[in-house]
Amino acid sequence: MHELSIATAIVEQAAEIARADGATGVASVTVRVGELAGVVPDALHFAFEVARDGTALSGARLVVERVTARAWCGGCAEEFALGMPPFFWCPRCDRPSQELRGGRELEITDVEAVPAPA
Ligand SMILES: [Zn+2]
Repeated sequence: MHELSIATAIVEQAAEIARADGATGVASVTVRVGELAGVVPDALHFAFEVARDGTALSGARLVVERVTARAWCGGCAEEFALGMPPFFWCPRCDRPSQELRGGRELEITDVEAVPAPA
């Protein structure tokens, strides 16, 4: 399951970010996942629960933000959603378009640290 290697990378990166901030643990991690990133959110959530075990993220929550895949048509300057499965065809001028504008994202956008004990 390739989500497990992705989840492991997310856990490692988030732990590093938290460590750099001097945090002892991570409360939540937010990731942006494009429609075309090839990641199944449910599988990613499951893999995250496995990957976070015994790390600074053992109590962390995973928040997944989906990003709609969009393409750009140079012919009529129209940006349109590709849908699933992706269809590279401009709905406005009825021509093929290959210019992807978004949808392959796979990145950590936020790491929330566990507040330090008072
Ligand atoms: Zn067009």
